[in-house]
Amino acid sequence: MLGSMMMRPLKIADILGYAAEIHPRSEVVSVRTEGDVHRQTYAQTAKRVAQLAHGLKTLGMETGDRVATLAWNGYRHFELYYAISGAGGVCHTINPRLSEEQMTYIVNHASDTMLFVDLTFVPLVAARRADWPEGLKVVVMTDRAHMPDGDYLCYEELLQGQSQHYDWPDLPEETAAGLCYTSGTTGHPKGTLYSHRSTVLHAMMVGLSLPKALQPGRRVLPVVPLFHVNAWGLPYAAPLTGASLIFPGGALDGPSLFRLMDQEQVYSAWGVPTVWLGLEAEIKAQGRMPQGLGDMVVGGSAAPASLIEFFEDDGVNVCHAWGMTEMSPIGTQGNLPDYLADKPSAERIAIKSKQGRRVFGVELKIVDEDGARLPHDGEAAGELYVRGHAVTAGYYKNEAANQDVFDADGWFGTGDVATIDADGYLTITDRAKDLIKSGGEWISSLDLENTVMAHPLVANCAVIAVPHPKWDERPLLIVVPSPAARPEVSDLMDLLSEHFAKWQLPDDVVFVDEIPLTATGKVSKLTLRKQFGDHKLPDMD
Ligand code: AMP
Repeated sequence: MLGSMMMRPLKIADILGYAAEIHPRSEVVSVRTEGDVHRQTYAQTAKRVAQLAHGLKTLGMETGDRVATLAWNGYRHFELYYAISGAGGVCHTINPRLSEEQMTYIVNHASDTMLFVDLTFVPLVAARRADWPEGLKVVVMTDRAHMPDGDYLCYEELLQGQSQHYDWPDLPEETAAGLCYTSGTTGHPKGTLYSHRSTVLHAMMVGLSLPKALQPGRRVLPVVPLFHVNAWGLPYAAPLTGASLIFPGGALDGPSLFRLMDQEQVYSAWGVPTVWLGLEAEIKAQGRMPQGLGDMVVGGSAAPASLIEFFEDDGVNVCHAWGMTEMSPIGTQGNLPDYLADKPSAERIAIKSKQGRRVFGVELKIVDEDGARLPHDGEAAGELYVRGHAVTAGYYKNEAANQDVFDADGWFGTGDVATIDADGYLTITDRAKDLIKSGGEWISSLDLENTVMAHPLVANCAVIAVPHPKWDERPLLIVVPSPAARPEVSDLMDLLSEHFAKWQLPDDVVFVDEIPLTATGKVSKLTLRKQFGDHKLPDMD
């Protein structure tokens, strides 16, 4: 027997509609690429979003069209999130830090029809446009006064004269709403296609799980970019809960963040550990915390215990979170339950260094090599699988990539190796995937290796992650030269530069006689990591 309740579709437009009605004065504050700070309320934002949706329609956006963004965190990017999805399009956020090759692949694979771009990235678009889909309309996210020369449309002109009301369609809740690509272990990036349903449920999950950060009137700073898996859901969870959003634009260094947090009385700040290490240095230089800071959410990479301790010692609640693009992304959060809050400091920091406990709507299991479930005893480590309302059911137009990531019961294999303890705390112990995470961004060691192997004087090579105090991990290239001669380091770098962005290049190259192999004849990264784990990279002196 079915329940007899209304079946109203979950839709993204309702989030902003709710905020405009119930939290109309909560703000969206943005450091603009034009150089100033801009403010508008949710009520004002909702009107501009309606105008933008009309503008998108006049440009020809149809239901299901992919509309891309290449932009920093700011109100116009936020408006695009709502206008595109609300009017039936798919908001495809592109990471500007990707290499030219990867970005071109993504724009073509998604068949984007329009691209909205921040002023900063106009030169990048100009350089690559020839390789992107024909007829791609490019809209620069600024006003007429700041428009660059060239074949571009102007964002503010798109809104001008449009109605401030839009009749948001009741789309089926499974309708695609957002698209975000993540790096693969090898080959091309893979897309996760979010739906209205998964996005709204995720926003509710995040709001429920992080009540310290998300309350009416709270001022929340997403340093995590809007092009990184929806800024961890904040653009949806903040308006849903009435929290104000403070968008930092492109200046993410410690001093800029400190200034903004101080001026705007940011209560809760969200970002990767590298960003908080920069802020920590600035706090030490100033000898004080930014005014009003009470809460931080740290994720994307493991938060070092020393970082957690530094902020907790000054009374800032640090919440360690874990998740992935494929999970919308939040999977776990580490706020302490009451029964653990009174523990001595060292114990509390140790617990907070774990990745936290699952949020409602995400199930976790760890399995051994045969896929058998392992106990949640804090000891047994196995590959972590997830299932939930906001977890991907398959990569976008990429059947091949789906082959080995789902188990027979449909759970998604995260590629992380973890333990789960009796209290439900997850600890990521290793990565099954062969990736390096630098400053919150992925570098594929396999892709680097494949490129280097093409050099005629390279007999074998491996790339491993070396711990780095600022970037978390940086790539080290280990090369076995051919018997004929040793390749020049500069030649190897030139070769890599043809395919990779500058920040993805190895920091150092070492030459060895042979590379250790595993029992199955694969390069033993484990042995190499042990061997070179203490390797001093050139910029670490
Ligand atoms: P992405 O899809 O780029 O967000 O990356 C997801 C991956 O980042 C996860 O599978 C983990 O390997 C890693 N990750 C994210 N958060 C954490 C964390 N708090 N601690 C350790 N690793 C993390």
